[in-house]
Amino acid sequence: MNIAEELKTKVESGQTVLTEFESKELLEEIGIQVPSQKLATSKEETIAAVEEIGFPIVMKLMAEDVVHKSDTGAVKLNLKTKEEVDNAYDELMKIPSQKEKKISVQKMAKEPITELIIGMTTDPQFGPALMFGIGGILVELLEDVSFRIAPITEYDAKEMIHEIKGFPILDGYRGKPKADINAIVETLMKISDLVTKHENINEMDLNPVFIYEKGLICVDARIILKEKDTTS
Ligand code: ADP
Ligand code: MG
Repeated sequence: MNIAEELKTKVESGQTVLTEFESKELLEEIGIQVPSQKLATSKEETIAAVEEIGFPIVMKLMAEDVVHKSDTGAVKLNLKTKEEVDNAYDELMKIPSQKEKKISVQKMAKEPITELIIGMTTDPQFGPALMFGIGGILVELLEDVSFRIAPITEYDAKEMIHEIKGFPILDGYRGKPKADINAIVETLMKISDLVTKHENINEMDLNPVFIYEKGLICVDARIILKEKDTTS
């Protein structure tokens, strides 16, 4: 199935929230890098997935009613042995949820220069709007973010990145390496292209995206679709 068909099927079936796993699959399809990931429904499957992906591993509980995963202990980072995987599985399965539980087994991404947030919301008047910021306190406390209405040009993407106050963090602040600005520009353009083509995407939250000297990788994502239109 192509992306348009996949999204349409989901909207028709009444699914409006894509899981982290599904959201990252979609990002991968449009050429945005994500850590290797597999879904497991038992301990055996989890171990098989770990063997395929290789240590270090991250395990996360996927359940429809667990949204802010780290707040409920649903993210287990940097697991390095089978014993740690075994314990993590037991702990994740103890987290209360009324919905079906699955485990996302994914590769632990290496430490970034900094975490980024890339988002998209739908403005009732102007349509899809893209958002960019540097993760952590810069976004949460200082609201240091930039916005543009989609579709954006390459020039717009560059402006979005340069106009945030935290830009020096990406530009080799205090001897740290310079971030791959071009990779961010390309990612913003890919998201712009996606949401312009697919009107049934209502919201996207790539949080965080790890940025490096070369390339970037999105380690958590959430996509929300528009409700099925029942008026037509
Ligand atoms: P939440 O639902 O709480 O936002 P996340 O999936 O974003 O959960 O995980 C919490 C944090 O764990 C992330 O902000 C990131 O710093 C780290 N993290 C998540 N997945 C990975 C990964 N695959 N590799 C490295 N770090 C990760
Ligand atoms: Mg997150």
